[in-house]
Amino acid sequence: MSDNSSSSLRTPIVAVLGHVDHGKTSLLDKIRGSAVSEGEAGAITQHIGATAVPLETVSEMAGDLVKVEDFDLPGLLFIDTPGHHSFSTLRSRGGALADIAILVVDVNDGFQPQTEEAIDILRRTGTPFVVAANKADTTPGWNPNPDSPIKPSYDGQSDNARKRLDENLYRIIGELSDAGFSADLYWRVQNFQRNIGVIPVSALTGEGVPDLLAVLMGLSQRFMKEEMEIDVGGPGKGTVLEVKEERGFGSTLDVVVYDGIIREGDTIVVGGKDEPIVTEIRALLQPRPNAEIRVEKRFDRVEEVGAAAGVKIAAPDLDDAIAGAPVRVVRDQPLADVIEAVESELAEIEVETEDNGVVVKADTLGSLEAMANALKEAEVPILRAEVGDIAPRDVAVAGTANQPEEKVILGFNVDVLSNAERELENSDVRLFNDDVIYQLIEEYEGFVEELKRAQQETILDKIVRPARFRVLEDHVFRQSNPAVVGVEVMSGTMKNNMRVVKFENNEPQRVGELSGIQEQGDDVSQARAGTRVSVAIDGPTVGRQIDEGDELWIELPEKHAKILEQELRDEIPADELEALSGYLSKQRSRDPFWGK
Ligand code: GDP
Repeated sequence: MSDNSSSSLRTPIVAVLGHVDHGKTSLLDKIRGSAVSEGEAGAITQHIGATAVPLETVSEMAGDLVKVEDFDLPGLLFIDTPGHHSFSTLRSRGGALADIAILVVDVNDGFQPQTEEAIDILRRTGTPFVVAANKADTTPGWNPNPDSPIKPSYDGQSDNARKRLDENLYRIIGELSDAGFSADLYWRVQNFQRNIGVIPVSALTGEGVPDLLAVLMGLSQRFMKEEMEIDVGGPGKGTVLEVKEERGFGSTLDVVVYDGIIREGDTIVVGGKDEPIVTEIRALLQPRPNAEIRVEKRFDRVEEVGAAAGVKIAAPDLDDAIAGAPVRVVRDQPLADVIEAVESELAEIEVETEDNGVVVKADTLGSLEAMANALKEAEVPILRAEVGDIAPRDVAVAGTANQPEEKVILGFNVDVLSNAERELENSDVRLFNDDVIYQLIEEYEGFVEELKRAQQETILDKIVRPARFRVLEDHVFRQSNPAVVGVEVMSGTMKNNMRVVKFENNEPQRVGELSGIQEQGDDVSQARAGTRVSVAIDGPTVGRQIDEGDELWIELPEKHAKILEQELRDEIPADELEALSGYLSKQRSRDPFWGK
């Protein structure tokens, strides 16, 4: 075993999720801010990408709700970038890297699309979570009690204010239940593993924040203690949050370490675009405290960091590292084994692709996986899926698709490289780029819908359309060559140059072909239901093949009738549908399988 290795409990990693503007950032700021004002130096530690709040500070903030002696977990590590985008990036060993999550829901807004999306991710990764029903202070008549636990503040409100808040809280509880989670107000929850606790909070006044911290500590201590056991001196394991260019350091990795220890000089293996990268750590960096912001250097070097922590790693050859990929320290283990471990972890995330489909690009492995899942649900096949900005090669690949709905690139939170932009302009490849998955998929589905409609319109243009019309009494203008008679269009739209039939005992008899339509003396190409026009029909003689009062039809080829009935019935107007049904029932009384 490694030097000074021993088992110990690490800090649980907490992520904050929720819909935009529901207060994720404010809540994190509040937790960090009140931690700082509560304690002296060391109240919190700012890491790269995360904030550590030690147990003592949690206890000071939470008052009676968290007693230091009841816990042996060292505190909480909050990931600083809120949102499920970073959450899905944060993964480890096939699951979520965050041990526990806060789902922020605006009490007034309730569940919104990104709330649903966050819930899906939490369900899929099996991450325990609590709901922070935020902005409780906006309840009309609310009497704020800054930084107070929520229960006494709630109990002290007017009946009216409490009732209004309750309505909103119960709506959220209902929405959770619709999403398949049994939930209740947190002070009624006995078993937080089985029921989701809903905590009314205000990121503005700090009310409910003590309760939120208490529930996070309690949940971690009770149900996740075993998972917090780590090998303190063991080889560090982490996940890349971001690959960042830093002046003086080149490409660096912002990493969350969830196990073991990482030291300067360590050899690490990192998941890369094409293959795992093996490199040696030049420097481990942490942000400089604010007071020294005027100093040119933004980072302090540290010799080592132990889990759980956020840290910036400077090392050569990191250009091809990908966000969301694993980082492993090589210590006590053969290099080949570590490379294999990284490869197999990457393979787990690999997206299923098919021979035909769209091209998907995403900024991190986690978001790529989330995209792939969402596309699978929407039954959209994927031809190729990669982490990275949109490059000319992606345009070329998408351009080879046969179907227009597959000549598509879906980009999630990525940039378009300038030479790819040019390629896009010169191709028929469509790009959809968004940073909200459900919107991206909605946009794409809208586009497919539009394509389908356009295709149907072209088919409709090429197809013979049904119409039924009646020869009017006393409107015979010419007996034959051609016969010219007045007609009323009963249903459908009659078009010139179409064949005309008449049913005799349900037997279709072709009587001729339309060679002209006149409406009030003017030549027209078609006549809609309800209009009276005079028509010239080549073929029949009035008094023999046709007569006054006869019901006539535009002749529908069987194939056209079939397409109309089976594929286009939703596209054609009601009166035309009536003409189609009439025509079909005449044909089918003779041959039940006609047009089927
Ligand atoms: P995010 O997009 O989820 O990170 O939301 P923000 O933290 O940026 O908050 C969105 C808006 O809501 C901002 O204008 C905040 O000031 C406001 N806000 C957030 N939390 C609260 C709260 O508890 N009470 C009130 N009254 N406003 C809040």
